[in-house]
Amino acid sequence: MDGTQNCDVVIVGGGPCGLTLAIELGRRGISTILLEERTDPSRFPSANATQARTMEHYRRLGFAEKIRAEGLPPDYPTDIAYFTRYTKHELARFSLPSARAARDMVKTLSGSWSAAELPHRVSQIFVEGVLRAEAAACPTVSLRPGWRMTAIRDSGKGVEVDAESRDNGQRLTLHAAYAVAADGGGSPTRKMLGINYTGESGVVRDFMGGRMFAIHFRSPELYNVLPHPRAWMYWAVNRERRAFMAAVNGRDEFTFHTQIKPGVRSEDISDTQAIAMLHEAFAAPLNIEIIGRSTWNAGYTLVAEKFQRGRILLGGDAVHLFTPTGGLGYNTAVEDAVNLGWKLSAVLKGWGGDSLLDSYETERQMIARRNTAYARGFADSVGLFALPPELEEASSAGEAARKVTGDHFNHHARFEFNIPGITFGGRYDGSPVIVPDGTVPPPDSPNAYVPTACPGGRAPHLWLDDGRSLYDALGFEFTLLVLDGTSTGADQFQAAADALKIPLSVEPVAAEGARDLYGADLALVRPDQIVAWRGNTSADATSVLRRATGRP
Ligand SMILES: Cc1cc2nc3c(=O)[nH]c(=O)nc-3n(C[C@H](O)[C@H](O)[C@H](O)COP(=O)(O)OP(=O)(O)OC[C@H]3O[C@@H](n4cnc5c(N)ncnc54)[C@H](O)[C@@H]3O)c2cc1C
Repeated sequence: MDGTQNCDVVIVGGGPCGLTLAIELGRRGISTILLEERTDPSRFPSANATQARTMEHYRRLGFAEKIRAEGLPPDYPTDIAYFTRYTKHELARFSLPSARAARDMVKTLSGSWSAAELPHRVSQIFVEGVLRAEAAACPTVSLRPGWRMTAIRDSGKGVEVDAESRDNGQRLTLHAAYAVAADGGGSPTRKMLGINYTGESGVVRDFMGGRMFAIHFRSPELYNVLPHPRAWMYWAVNRERRAFMAAVNGRDEFTFHTQIKPGVRSEDISDTQAIAMLHEAFAAPLNIEIIGRSTWNAGYTLVAEKFQRGRILLGGDAVHLFTPTGGLGYNTAVEDAVNLGWKLSAVLKGWGGDSLLDSYETERQMIARRNTAYARGFADSVGLFALPPELEEASSAGEAARKVTGDHFNHHARFEFNIPGITFGGRYDGSPVIVPDGTVPPPDSPNAYVPTACPGGRAPHLWLDDGRSLYDALGFEFTLLVLDGTSTGADQFQAAADALKIPLSVEPVAAEGARDLYGADLALVRPDQIVAWRGNTSADATSVLRRATGRP
C-alpha cells in the first residue's frame, strides 16, 4: 500500500548525525521523520571516543551522564598504550582518567581544559543506543527503522522523499519543508545530487593507510593473558603485524583492527586466519569468540564540495570522511547536527532569515577541512614512522630500537589523544552570521586551546560561584551574558529580541574573572554555544540580532 505523509523535516540516516539532529529538532517541537534503512540497531563498534565538546553538547541536551555511564566500567582507566606485541615489551603509555575520575577532575581544570565535560571513551554502539532513546522520547520525532530512502526531490517550495519498507515493500512519499541527508560515507543522497568529495583517498602508509580488517570479539581470559596494566586502547607496533585493539565493555569484549596487505580480499579471510592475525599481535594464544567482522579504509581526507543544494542539506560522513586517527569523524558529525538543528528550527519558526541556513555550509565546511587535515597529520605520525629492524631483538640494539620507538609513541600519544585545541578551538570566522569585532583569535593548534570570546568560537567556559557550569546557566536558544556586574544593555537587547521574535535569555554572570575572560561587558551566545557578538554597548542590539539570525 502506497501513501503520503507530511512533516517539517525528513532526516535520511539514523547514525550519530541523524539521531542528534532529530533530538535538536524534537526538543524544539519540529515535526521530524527519520528514515533508517537498518532494522537491527546492533552494529560493529566503530568510533571509540566521544570528545569533550561532544560531551558538552550532550550535557546541554541533558544526557551526558547517561553517555558517561555507558561502555567501560566507571573506574576503568582510559590509557593508550603501545607494545611491540601485547604480551611483550611495553613501549609507551599515556595515562588518562577513568569516567569517574573525569567527572571530578573537570571541576579542577583551567586553561586548555577549562570545560564542562572531559572526553569519554565509549563505543559508538552504546552512544547510538542513548541517542536513539532520546530521539524516540521527543513527541514530534518519528523514527522509522527499516525504511530506505529511494529518491529525493526539491520542488523549490518543499521536498519529496520516497521511502520503501524493507519488511514488506510498502512505499511512502514524505512531503516536508526540508530534508537532511545524514546517510553516511556512501551517501546515496550526495550521489543523487551529483555532489563530489574533494581531497585525498587511497593514501598508502605502513599503518593507517590502506584496507583495514577488524573483528569484534569476546574473550573472558584476555586480561589474564596480558601481563601489563589495563588500558583502553592497545597498539601493537612491530614489522610483521601492526594493529590496535580497544576495550569495549572493560570485561570481555574488544575490537581488533589490522591492515591487510594489498591484493588480499577481506572476504577471503577465514575466521581461523583472523584469529591467527590476533595471535601475531599478542605473541600468545588466546581463546576468542568472534562476534562480528568489518572492513574499512584508512587514508581518506575527503570533504564534499557542497553541503547543501536548495532545501536538501547534508551532514556527517555524507560530507566528510576521515581516517579515524584522532577520533574526529563521529564528533564532527554530531557538531554538524548541532549547528544545523537550531538554524533549521529558527527558519521554520520564522525568526531565522534566509541566509541563516546558508551559513551552515560556510561554517561546517571549514571545520570539516580543518578536522580532516588534523586527522591526516595524526595518521602520518603513526603510520609513516619507520620501525627499526632490531625492534624485537633481545639485544642492546633491540633495547635502543625500543627506546627510540617508545620516545616517538610517547610523543605521538600526547599529540593524538590530548587535543583540546581541536576539540574546543574550531571557529566560524568569516561566517555571515558572526559579528566580528576586529580582534584576532589565538592561533589554531591541536594540543592547546586558549579560551577567547572573539566572536566565532566556543563561548569560554567557567564554573559559576554556585558550582554550576556556565553552560548550565545558558538558555536553550540565544543567551545574552551580562558580564559587567549591572544589567546595562540587557533591556535593549531583550526589547530588540522581543520585537524580532527571537528567543533570548539574559544571564548576569558575576563570577570573578568572567568580564576579563570575555573581554567585554556583553556577549551574545548562540544556541550552539558559539559567541555571535561581544561588545560594551547595546546601541546596535537590533542589527546584531538580525545579523546573528541571518535576517536582512
Ligand atoms: C574503525 C573506526 C573507528 C572510528 N573511530 C572513531 C572515533 O573514535 N571517533 C570518531 O569521532 N569517529 C570515529 N569513526 C568514524 C565514525 O564511525 C563515523 O564518522 C560516524 O559513524 C558518522 O556518523 P554519521 O551519522 O554521519 O553516519 P553513519 O554512522 O554512517 O550513519 C549513516 C546511516 O544512514 C543509513 N542510510 C544510508 N543510506 C540510507 C538510505 N537510503 N535510507 C535510509 N537510511 C540510510 C545507514 O544505514 C546508517 O545507519 C570511526 C570509524 C571507523 C571505521
